[in-house]
Amino acid sequence: MELPYSEPYKIKVTEAIRTSTRAERETWIREAKYNLFKVRSEQVTIDLLTDSGTGSMSDRQWAAMMTGDESYAGASSYFRLKQVIENIFGMPYFLPTHQGRAAENVIFSALLKEGDIVPGNSHFDTTKGHIEFRRCSAPDCTIDAAADTQLEIPFKGEMDLNKLEKIFKENPREKIPCTVLTITNNTAGGQPVSMKNIRETAELCRRYRIPLLIDSARFAENAYFIKTREAGYADKTIKEIVREIYQYADIMTISAKKDGVVNMGGFVAMRSEELMRQAMQFSIMCEGYLTYGGMSGRDLDALAVGLDENTEFEQLDARIRQVKLLGDLLDEYGIPYQRPAGGHAIFLDAKKILTHVPKEQFIAQTLAVELYLEAGVRGVEIGSILADRDPVTHENRYPKLELLRLAIPRRVYTDNHIRVIAAACRNIFERREQITSGYRITFETPILRHFTVELEKI
Ligand SMILES: *Cc1c(COP(=O)(O)O)cnc(C)c1O
Repeated sequence: MELPYSEPYKIKVTEAIRTSTRAERETWIREAKYNLFKVRSEQVTIDLLTDSGTGSMSDRQWAAMMTGDESYAGASSYFRLKQVIENIFGMPYFLPTHQGRAAENVIFSALLKEGDIVPGNSHFDTTKGHIEFRRCSAPDCTIDAAADTQLEIPFKGEMDLNKLEKIFKENPREKIPCTVLTITNNTAGGQPVSMKNIRETAELCRRYRIPLLIDSARFAENAYFIKTREAGYADKTIKEIVREIYQYADIMTISAKKDGVVNMGGFVAMRSEELMRQAMQFSIMCEGYLTYGGMSGRDLDALAVGLDENTEFEQLDARIRQVKLLGDLLDEYGIPYQRPAGGHAIFLDAKKILTHVPKEQFIAQTLAVELYLEAGVRGVEIGSILADRDPVTHENRYPKLELLRLAIPRRVYTDNHIRVIAAACRNIFERREQITSGYRITFETPILRHFTVELEKI
């Protein structure tokens, strides 16, 4: 008999999960104003809110933390991370930041001025927030295919080069300080971008002399998909593929809380010394001195090891297999989600599941609350609450997709937990016809409202 697959690690430390009754969860979610960000973690059985900063570090990462150098300036931890960043990404300059959005803040402070245009393939919400906050616009150039959740194509997160070139042609070069390519495309469902598309995007940017910034939160998962799906890459290592990707980039921002497998951290890296000099002052003002930028020395060391370990095929394979297991179970039950299964999460297609809930009542949020009530599983809405209001008209924006994201933390849950999640989805799917109403907003902030929004049941 052929031996089945097993994970390339064993478990050294465990953390107890607190279970709850449906009645308890009904009270808690009401008290939380139907916003899952306001629910306490001990009120959650399986937490799929995010895979950001929630992964389990390896014993080597924990060991590296003991070698952390907490010197204010010139810490050896900084130089160890600098070496790893040079090896893996080939980027000569970098500024540590406390997380991804801080990297965006530092680099956009140096690059953007009011009225600028920063096109991209579905900017992440904080990226878009940082662009729009500076009174700039963030047009979306993702391929149309990304919006058809049932279409199975290998690289569904790609940049539409025609849409991008149209923006380049219609605007003066000075108004476009950079293009943002997000790998994997989080907002479109954790969908990857092919090397071909990365290369062609870079070529187009170069032709118009516009720097290419790669938003790199899940760069290693993207490299895994290039290896397993794109012709010509099967025999290359993840590290070789990553190195090739970053040959095409001028700048990278990264939330290290994802593929860096640390609980906190990020950085911005670049090729241009001049840009580094411009960005430095914003790092010092908002993050910290150049050699720690908002991170402890021990965190810099944990990240150096995390980046090295998580650019190995076996680690990525275990992770992506687990995400796929959830997708396969949903297939068995006929539950629609963004196909094919993404790198870090499954995105349930809430519009196709809760067909009787009007879009004005927040379809994906309604599904998120249902899943919490059903099994204490916490997912997150990627729909019209997340989309915020239009900055000009102040009308609600209704994106094409209403998704419930179930993000799988790295090395945290077992396949048995995955089976519980799938069963809970199935129970809701079976009674979907009875769910006919959703929620209305009673409190919201003008930007990034999803974190603090308060809702009431209709
Ligand atoms: C998480 C994420 C960010 C922001 O990073 P934080 O560490 O959460 O601040 C930016 N872009 C993408 C694609 C992300 O996934």
